[in-house]
Amino acid sequence: MAERPARRTPKPHSARVVRTERLTPHMHRVVLGGDGLADFTAGTSTDHYVKLLFGAEGVTYPEPFDMAQIREEFPREQWPVTRTYTVRAWDPVLRELTLDFVIHGDEGLAGPWAARVRAGELVRFLGPGGAYAPDTEADWHLLAGDESALPAIAASLEAMPDGAQVRAFVEVSGPEEEQKFDSDVEVVWLHRGDRPVGEALVAAVQGLEFPAGRMHAFVHGEAGFVKELRRLLRVEHQIPREDISISGYWRLGHNEDGWQAAKREWNAQVEAEQEEASPPPV
Ligand SMILES: Cc1cc2nc3c(=O)[nH]c(=O)nc-3n(C[C@H](O)[C@H](O)[C@H](O)COP(=O)(O)OP(=O)(O)OC[C@H]3O[C@@H](n4cnc5c(N)ncnc54)[C@H](O)[C@@H]3O)c2cc1C
Repeated sequence: MAERPARRTPKPHSARVVRTERLTPHMHRVVLGGDGLADFTAGTSTDHYVKLLFGAEGVTYPEPFDMAQIREEFPREQWPVTRTYTVRAWDPVLRELTLDFVIHGDEGLAGPWAARVRAGELVRFLGPGGAYAPDTEADWHLLAGDESALPAIAASLEAMPDGAQVRAFVEVSGPEEEQKFDSDVEVVWLHRGDRPVGEALVAAVQGLEFPAGRMHAFVHGEAGFVKELRRLLRVEHQIPREDISISGYWRLGHNEDGWQAAKREWNAQVEAEQEEASPPPV
């Protein structure tokens, strides 16, 4: 029997927090830097993301930090857990990596960490991954998401070709959460208030008169509303699958570990429900 190639454990990057900034009451920026980013590179995707590693409380890991060794020597419950964050910006000259965190309360790891972290703290992460960038051949672009997708939407707006026709919708809790970007594109800010996450966003995209021509879409955020928008795009508007970047970035009531574990099955179920009524791939 042919020998299977050994599965390589990716090598984490180590960085230091250089500075933090409160962008809005519920969005904090953390800028990472240091020599540990010497071998970090990012391509042209505007949805690049990294996976931050949070060590188990009270556990000291061996140095140099080696995920393969940790997985071999530590019980599973002591392995670091990951939290996924978009590369809002990467400056290879200054070697600075900018991440924006939704501050969503006391629950969880990454949100509370970003609310309290100070310059100097060590951060380890894997990545980057990512696949979307605005298609310069598209006739128009749809960008839609909640706060968690805002860093990717902002990076995408800043990378839009001049004169691109864009419809951008971002749902945030209220007017104090709106942000300004280095882009002339007008963003429709939807204020959630007391409504469930995604309700205002779905209604806004449902009410949109789609411009003529080929669209390229980026739709991300809480998995429940993402499912509804996927149905709208794939089933009602019959948009080809390859023209849509769409996924649940998080799931109400699930932490990232739980959501990531359930995501494959969730996606398969959504596909089974929606694909029958969608156009076949070209
Ligand atoms: C590719 C990708 C890119 C992402 N980019 C970003 C980004 O740039 N910025 C960002 O803030 N998030 C981003 N996210 C979402 C982020 O990974 C999740 O929100 C993650 O669950 C946050 O981890 P936590 O430790 O704070 O909370 P967890 O421990 O994962 O969850 C604790 C509780 O908080 C809830 N919760 C989690 N996120 C939110 C939220 N946004 N609003 C309200 N409740 C929430 C959960 O449902 C759960 O009940 C991205 C996700 C993916 C897959």
